[in-house]
Amino acid sequence: MKINGLKKKALWENIKCCCIKGDVEHTYPLSECKHCKFMECWQSVPKKDFTVNDDIRDKNGKVTKKQTRTIKEITLVRGSFEDVVAWTWSS
Ligand SMILES: [Zn+2]
Repeated sequence: MKINGLKKKALWENIKCCCIKGDVEHTYPLSECKHCKFMECWQSVPKKDFTVNDDIRDKNGKVTKKQTRTIKEITLVRGSFEDVVAWTWSS
């Protein structure tokens, strides 16, 4: 998997985790810990090639075939803290 838009250190990584260990109520996701939230987003980024199913449609928009493609390259979309809000791949 090739990932475009990687950073050595994103801004959000400077935000300290404010979770209290062993205290569920004060631990993400119950707490508003930005560090853990952004970490979770980052960890959800696929690090390995994955497959998607595309619908092949005729000119009337009817699905005539399904096609499986392997995605080998994605581009990260970053938010204001350089946190990963989404990722895209080209068709
Ligand atoms: Zn945390």
